[in-house]
Amino acid sequence: PRVFNFSAGPATLPDVVLEQARDELLDWRGVGASIVELSHRGKEFMGVAAEAEADLRRLLSISDDYVVLFLAGGATTAQALVPLNLASAGQRADYVVTGHWGKTAIKQARPYVDVNIAATSEAGGFRDLPARADWQLSPDAAYVHITANETIHGVEFRDIPDVGDVPLVADFSSSIASEPLDVSKFGVIYAGAQKNLGPVGVTVVILRRNLLERAGQPRADIFDYRSHVKGESMLNTPPTWNWYLAGLVFKWMLAEGGVEEFARRNARKAAALYAAIDGSGGFYRNDVAAPVRSRMNVPFFLHDASLDKAFLAESEAAGLIGLKGHRALGGMRASIYNAMPEAGVRALIGFMDDFRKRHG
Ligand code: PLP
Repeated sequence: PRVFNFSAGPATLPDVVLEQARDELLDWRGVGASIVELSHRGKEFMGVAAEAEADLRRLLSISDDYVVLFLAGGATTAQALVPLNLASAGQRADYVVTGHWGKTAIKQARPYVDVNIAATSEAGGFRDLPARADWQLSPDAAYVHITANETIHGVEFRDIPDVGDVPLVADFSSSIASEPLDVSKFGVIYAGAQKNLGPVGVTVVILRRNLLERAGQPRADIFDYRSHVKGESMLNTPPTWNWYLAGLVFKWMLAEGGVEEFARRNARKAAALYAAIDGSGGFYRNDVAAPVRSRMNVPFFLHDASLDKAFLAESEAAGLIGLKGHRALGGMRASIYNAMPEAGVRALIGFMDDFRKRHG
């Protein structure tokens, strides 16, 4: 039986997507071979790739001013590609750090650019976002980087910050396609697929075309956006299986009503879970400032950490898995991406109430 999987990523996928992949595994649409066995340059996979791009463009209303890449290497590689492609060697780049993944973005950029931490909420334990008025942006920055949703700390930008004419670069790994997005406000959006878009192994990069005119710095072809655009994300053998599965997820999202519908479901799921935590009389606690609480990743703590082990064992026995918090924070974390049904969140809330009554 399928359980409710609250893992932060790799994360749960819709049953219908996995069922379709299973049904097509040995014989993809009468070809007599699996899609993973076919050449990435053959008409079958080229069709899958083109449909995936078209569907993602539809889902997020991505205009022709933007290119869409499907790359290997995960979001971490995407973090290194940004400075290599958008900045000259040693040029200044502004980073707003609102959690763990903002710090990894800096780590990947430091060899290539002069990183300016324009704002950080680290002193407060990443429980809030630094106010836009306090950001110290550089006049000569190549770009400004933010993490749209911090998967570990559970903090998200609700509004897209205005950074003037400097390209805004955003790590959307854990919130892409969870709600409508005005792509035109960004220079680059990147996202590892393994939360909201599909299985791990493919990373989506949405890039404003005019940024391809930037010289960037000396780099191998494989790290060059322009080569990937020219090679249609097939500069080398792409992760075809992951790309195909992501394509099935895009079709599922469109069929369910698109990002507008997921925004409604995600708002309901997050509101119910935070209400359960806040209404638990202190038995459970989430420390993030209410206006910036993530609708995708909900970290929470039990009032007595000695109950953590029992909470995890009992939740797993109840068919609710993946609730252990990230080791950087401890406690619990419920990731409630698009593919987590509302019934899963209701089951979690029911379990939490019951656990509190038994252990409170
Ligand atoms: N950025 C964010 C917001 C993430 O949540 C993660 C992974 O969980 C990463 C970056 C790193 O992604 P990857 O493991 O694909 O390199």
